[in-house]
Amino acid sequence: MQQGTIGVTTENIFPIIKKFLYSDHEIFLREVIANAVDATQKLKTLASTGEFQGEMGDTSIRVGLNPKKKTLTISDRGCGMTAEEVQKYINQIAFSSAGEFLEKYKNQSNAIIGHFGLGFYSSFMVAHKVEIITRSWQEGTQAVHWSCDGSPQYTLEEATREDRGTDIILHIDEDSKEFLEENRVSELLRKYCRFLPVPIAFGKEKEWKDGKQVDTDKDRIINNTTPAWTLKPTELKEEDYDQFYRELYPMAEDPQFHIHLNVDYPFNLTGILYFPKIKSNLEVQKNKIQLYCNQVFVTDSVEGIVPDFMTLLHGVIDSPDIPLNVSRSYLQSDSNVKKISSHITKKVADRLEEIFKNDRKEYEQKWDHLKLFIEYGMLTEEKFYDRAEKFALFKNSDQKYFTFEEYKTLIEANQKDKNDKLVYLYATDAVTQYSFIETARSKGYDVLLMDGHLDVHFINHLETKFKDSHFARVDADVMERLIQKEDIRPSSLPAEKQEELKPVLESLLPEGANFFVTFEDLGPAAQPMIITQSEFMRRMKDMSALGGGMNFYGELPDSYSVVVNSEHPLVQRLQQQKESELSEAIAALNQSLSPVSQELDKLRETTKDKKEEEIEQAVKDQRAELQQKEEELKNRKKATLQEYGRENKLARQLVDLALLSNNMLKGESLSAFVRRSIEIMEK
Ligand code: ADP
Ligand code: MG
Repeated sequence: MQQGTIGVTTENIFPIIKKFLYSDHEIFLREVIANAVDATQKLKTLASTGEFQGEMGDTSIRVGLNPKKKTLTISDRGCGMTAEEVQKYINQIAFSSAGEFLEKYKNQSNAIIGHFGLGFYSSFMVAHKVEIITRSWQEGTQAVHWSCDGSPQYTLEEATREDRGTDIILHIDEDSKEFLEENRVSELLRKYCRFLPVPIAFGKEKEWKDGKQVDTDKDRIINNTTPAWTLKPTELKEEDYDQFYRELYPMAEDPQFHIHLNVDYPFNLTGILYFPKIKSNLEVQKNKIQLYCNQVFVTDSVEGIVPDFMTLLHGVIDSPDIPLNVSRSYLQSDSNVKKISSHITKKVADRLEEIFKNDRKEYEQKWDHLKLFIEYGMLTEEKFYDRAEKFALFKNSDQKYFTFEEYKTLIEANQKDKNDKLVYLYATDAVTQYSFIETARSKGYDVLLMDGHLDVHFINHLETKFKDSHFARVDADVMERLIQKEDIRPSSLPAEKQEELKPVLESLLPEGANFFVTFEDLGPAAQPMIITQSEFMRRMKDMSALGGGMNFYGELPDSYSVVVNSEHPLVQRLQQQKESELSEAIAALNQSLSPVSQELDKLRETTKDKKEEEIEQAVKDQRAELQQKEEELKNRKKATLQEYGRENKLARQLVDLALLSNNMLKGESLSAFVRRSIEIMEK
């Protein structure tokens, strides 16, 4: 029997490992099994070079639980170790590298260290004692038994083991006893080992016998040793990819299509990425990609390794070249990771372009589910934008699809304004904005449907990209001003008549928002009254709703402009009605008002060159009195007009119709409108 002290400067490694690695204790199992896989693969390599000439036999790795002895044992039939090798690889190297690691990272957070695989010694996170019984593949070597309770003291002695290979026996700690439960171990094996290249046996296959589940004598193999990504694309059919997708995400809907990644220069990377059907809720979709290193599961959070928008994809990436055991901030600046990231971006763009070119119809069918992903990519990755501008699509209100280029060609002739700027008209809701879409189309314009989750941002982004163009929502203004071809004619209704008609209509507009009424001549064929919301204001509000940090706008009340088309026969009729029914009352009010206003004007004329303090008190008093009188009369006039408006069915009908085409007529007002309309028809 040999005894010795492990070459480590730290007094007692056991508590230190525990202290530093308290997050992610479960990775010990991955580490120990990964070593067993390595040992098995090593032996296969030795066999292929002819150094090892014995039988390979069954090389399954066995995971066994012994609840009585409180042990978890991992056995392999790999290359094993001689006593010298145990000395070298277990006693020297491993501990010294652990020591270095602790030296280097002692001031850093646990999160970082949790990702740092400590290899064999991570087993001390869950075990108070670890034993190794191992026998090398080489003829005539003696099996050895190594044992350590986590202090730097170990024992190494001769042992008996019939066969080559290694047993790692973990004496599980009281506070880690979850790792003695079959279900917990199953769960971990599934998480970390399900695609390892060597079969892992854990327990037996079960069968139903006499209404009970009983073990058969067949080993239960928990892993798929040749997952799809390790095969060549030529060896796989479409079904195989779908099948593998279901293996990864049993609950998910079938994906749209996949990309098989296979790179060996300048770095090694394999994998399969799937395009899921992307729904509007981005966050739940994210982070489904699994990262592997030689088929060992590492993580399913790939931020920093792939561009953010790629995290919407599903699938696996396997690379021995990604430095897995380091902190995330280091990862992001690693040049290999950057290359990998831009490579994947390029591959994804290639694939999309390929489908677009080869099968435009299929691509269009998938577009609604691809849109969010592609827009996200275009918004956040300049390089991806440059690729995707060739295959990103616009959909118009007829559900037809166009590339950016095609769409520009479509609208170029017709949708330029008088300043030669191209106007892209869009709607965010084909139903509620229907009447505006119709108006645009009746003028021969085309309307895009921009109803996606990111479209508010996307439109802003496109405006920075498209030259001499801008986007306008169909209901942002009257069509004549959205695409202004010529100067708009001012209303032929005299200003004082406009002032009289304003309160008539204003009295009928709903409370809680600001409405600004103006008059314009839009021609007898245009609608009598149109309510719009300015593009700028609405975008600011939309952005603040999406959390774009513009809360100021979010809190403002909604403001609308109300354009009254004074050339419309119904508006003219209303004007005439008002004249004939109200002219006497208004004339009377005007009669008392005009001398007051005249006197006030005169007074202002005489004092206009004087400073406020130079004006005599008597004059000031007179002025105040006149002002008050004028105000009173004006208010009375306004009240008369408002009252008239509230009683006027035509005015009410015009306002309600304008509100209705904007989806703003609701509840009680809506049913009043219906009743009134019926009454009108019955007449
Ligand atoms: P790494 O795997 O990164 O080399 P580990 O701490 O996991 O570091 O393992 C240290 C060494 O111990 C391995 O390199 C290997 O030589 C040896 N070893 C560990 N487990 C086994 C095993 N099951 N069979 C043979 N050798 C092993
Ligand atoms: Mg290892």
